[in-house]
Amino acid sequence: MKGKLIIFSAPSGAGKTTIVRQLLERGLNLEFSVSATSRSPRPNELHGRDYYFLTIEEFKNKVEAGDFLEWEEVYSGICYGTLKSEVDRICDAGKHVIFDVDVIGGLNIKRQFEEQALAIFVQPPSVEELRTRLKNRSTETEEKIAMRIAKAEHELSFADKFDVIVVNENIEKAVIEAEKLVHNFIA
Ligand code: 5GP
Repeated sequence: MKGKLIIFSAPSGAGKTTIVRQLLERGLNLEFSVSATSRSPRPNELHGRDYYFLTIEEFKNKVEAGDFLEWEEVYSGICYGTLKSEVDRICDAGKHVIFDVDVIGGLNIKRQFEEQALAIFVQPPSVEELRTRLKNRSTETEEKIAMRIAKAEHELSFADKFDVIVVNENIEKAVIEAEKLVHNFIA
């Protein structure tokens, strides 16, 4: 079996991480592609499970070595990237890869894998709703929230470049819709 790639992209706070986590528990033979980042871990985040937390120097060395499928400075001074070794590791284990990456990264992976990949855009009902969700999550400072909102507004304009859009009005419904899409794609 050739592993398939399921890409979830969305503005921060749109609910994609929740959707991805739920799908991982649905017995779809999916495994999460653990990204590398130069940001520091939040409480409850684990190295190797949520991210590979690297110093900026370590990150740059991997860029130089050509270890990334894609990488980006998602926020100023903070880099995120998908390691080629993650896709190999998961596909070699006979599983499908699921990605939680930003919009540019998602389109970048789709471009490289074409028909082997399904690119799903998770859309929040509105920018106002997104602001409320980010505030309620309260893991970020006001300044960081403002930065994420500005980025979100820009990212929403990329939605129609994806294979499919899932509007997250209601998380349970969005998970069911996403599960159907993934199920059909890997069948
Ligand atoms: P957070 O800091 O909230 O975990 O993630 C911030 C943003 O970076 C999210 O939109 C997340 O999807 C994105 N991101 C996480 N990993 C990657 C990656 O490997 N590549 C890219 N391009 N973006 C990523």
